[in-house]
Amino acid sequence: MTKQRDRVSPVEMSPDEFRLAGHRMIDRIADFVASLPDRPVTPGESLQQIREQLGNGSLPEQGGDTGQLLEDTAKLLFDHSLLNGHPRFWGYITSSAAPIGALGDLLAGAVNPNMGAWALSPVATEIEAQTVRWIAQLLGFPPDCGGLLVSGGNMANMVGLWAARKAKAGWDVRGAGLMTGEGRQLLVYASSETHTWIQKAADLSGLGTDAVHWVPADEHQRMDTNALRRQLREDTEKGDLPFLVVGTAGSVSTGAVDPLPELASICREHDVWFHVDGAYGGFAAALPDASPELKGLSEADSVAVDPHKWLYAPLEAACVLVRDPQHLQDAFSFHPPYYKFDGEGDERPINYNEYGPQNSRGFRALKVWLGLKQAGREGYERMIADDIRLAKALYQLVDVHPSLQAMTQNLSITTFRYLPLDLEPSTENIDAYLNELNTELLTRLQNSGEAYPSHAVINGVFALRVCIVNFRTALADIEALPEIVVRLGEEVDSELRPASSKPAAAVLQKDG
Ligand SMILES: *Cc1c(COP(=O)(O)O)cnc(C)c1O
Repeated sequence: MTKQRDRVSPVEMSPDEFRLAGHRMIDRIADFVASLPDRPVTPGESLQQIREQLGNGSLPEQGGDTGQLLEDTAKLLFDHSLLNGHPRFWGYITSSAAPIGALGDLLAGAVNPNMGAWALSPVATEIEAQTVRWIAQLLGFPPDCGGLLVSGGNMANMVGLWAARKAKAGWDVRGAGLMTGEGRQLLVYASSETHTWIQKAADLSGLGTDAVHWVPADEHQRMDTNALRRQLREDTEKGDLPFLVVGTAGSVSTGAVDPLPELASICREHDVWFHVDGAYGGFAAALPDASPELKGLSEADSVAVDPHKWLYAPLEAACVLVRDPQHLQDAFSFHPPYYKFDGEGDERPINYNEYGPQNSRGFRALKVWLGLKQAGREGYERMIADDIRLAKALYQLVDVHPSLQAMTQNLSITTFRYLPLDLEPSTENIDAYLNELNTELLTRLQNSGEAYPSHAVINGVFALRVCIVNFRTALADIEALPEIVVRLGEEVDSELRPASSKPAAAVLQKDG
């Protein structure tokens, strides 16, 4: 029996109010998701148009009706967003989100455990620990590793770098900082295709971006291991301290996978920490037919993966795994006097504030855990394999198309460009013209709402890039793309060529 309460708070909702508004919201979301294929991928509105939707009213003095507020907000978001849940969204590496993840976030928010300490989130912390173990199992990484969920691939990779820095600096780097390495500089090695997190991490950890020694990539965008060996030897001879090699399992531009087993053995030879950035491609290691290069991520000291990419969790959810859990605690633990979270008996629980940079933490593990239970290993293997199969199908379609040039295909990323049929191969400045043409074509494609690829620059060539991390994409969506690209490409080409002073124009006039 509930006693009469003597306080009425403006943010409280009665059970009936919550039920009514919540049911309505769920109905709206269900309709929204069902309508995705019929909507444009993006309304393509300008900054001005978007800002007009919000108006520039100041902070409301008084609150408003909750039900109306939620209705209006749902409509605002549904009608003015770029829809990455659309079957034809293939930009960057941003996935469609599993609906169970949205429900998981609702549930997590309702219970609101603070994941900084076990005492504040007993069952939720255990769910996170189980999620970490299951992710390790999926990847073929030792399930007794340490690990935690963080906001994204950037943070997951940075946690790996911080753990490496503490483990490999031969002095008390957490206490004394970087200046006491007796003049020895801590150095990081990463291929030129590495995602920009490495620069942020080097900067924010005080190493400085100059501490990143870039290793050239080969013609398939994979790290040149001979160059890595040479650089490690030279820098060590100079007296510096190489402490970290980063291998990429699925590069952000083309999905290239570095030769991870070889990197692992080079790191063992040189006593250097081996970190794998698997933010995009890591989960593909779960596939039975994954390449040995990719499966080599199981040999790493630490691995970053992004459940908000190939596990289809809604943003934000990344995971970092560290082979020896002690290394995480060594890198992040402090014991301030205002916390008493030690637990009792010999079973010491995990207090996640000691495993990573965050203090209070949200329950982002729940949506990931729910997805793993909903689809199982079999379900995820099938979805990832389907994405890869569709990207390969696209490569074949563009490869045989007379006006399209297939460029790369790795994991679920296919790159290609539009080549006007009547453009003479001998045209002067043809490369510059094709870059200009495809750049403008991409803008037009993205604004059209018909499909949403992004781009890659491969050896100076501007390519259209389709990255399928989307469980809603079907073969029909892929088959529709060449026609869309060629139609918009012809449109852009006819506008650019006669108007420009490029030699290409002369060719056209000569022919016409
Ligand atoms: C996406 C990605 C990142 C960055 O991850 P966020 O989740 O965007 O922070 C880093 N590296 C690679 C290879 C990625 O694909």
